[in-house]
Amino acid sequence: MVFLGPPGAGKGTQAAIIRDRYGIPHVSTGEIIRDAIAGGTPMGDKVRVVVESGKLVPDEMIGDIVAERLGREDARNGFLLDGFPRTIRQAEILENVMSARNEGLTAVIKLDVGDDQVVLRLSGRRVCAACGALSHTEFSAPKRQGVCDACGGRLEQRRDDREEVIRRRLSVYHEQTEPLVAHYAALGLLRVIDGDRPCGEVTRDVLAAIEGGAAA
Ligand code: AMP
Repeated sequence: MVFLGPPGAGKGTQAAIIRDRYGIPHVSTGEIIRDAIAGGTPMGDKVRVVVESGKLVPDEMIGDIVAERLGREDARNGFLLDGFPRTIRQAEILENVMSARNEGLTAVIKLDVGDDQVVLRLSGRRVCAACGALSHTEFSAPKRQGVCDACGGRLEQRRDDREEVIRRRLSVYHEQTEPLVAHYAALGLLRVIDGDRPCGEVTRDVLAAIEGGAAA
């Protein structure tokens, strides 16, 4: 499965729910890259400036990361991609990986959220530095400002969640990623879900889209 949609659409949140339900790995290329940057790996050092400016990492580099990740044992029975593919070239890379496995995608789920809502969601988003739990300064404020409700860790703002970077990420999304909507619609794989609703309602529709399979 692939989750498509602008940054802040709720792909990561929904993907974590689906992962737990189906027991398949949630592969977030953004998370892999952020871990590499935080860990100071050669790949992380190479892409840090690009990521912090809201632009995309080169297709072939991200393709190699995804191919390696999907080749691991835990992805043998399926996987959920969040944040990949983001360009038509990346979709081609994924198609090559899938045909080498003799498999196809089950569904491409697009979460629809308008740009203004994305800016509101991302500019208030905070991530716990210790456990990764998400909160929001307005929509799900922690009991103590700056402190994670789940573990007491320190809440931080992602460097690419600053407003000027959010605007850049949105324009990159519209220019480079949105063409995938027509691409997957033509393949009969696309399911569009209104992501501007309470989390549980979105999850219900996501599950219906998956269980209806590609032909729903
Ligand atoms: P995300 O957490 O999915 O919003 O990704 C954060 C950042 O990581 C993006 O703004 C890009 O700089 C980089 N990134 C993540 N996934 C990809 C991808 N599939 N292709 C290129 N860059 C990516």
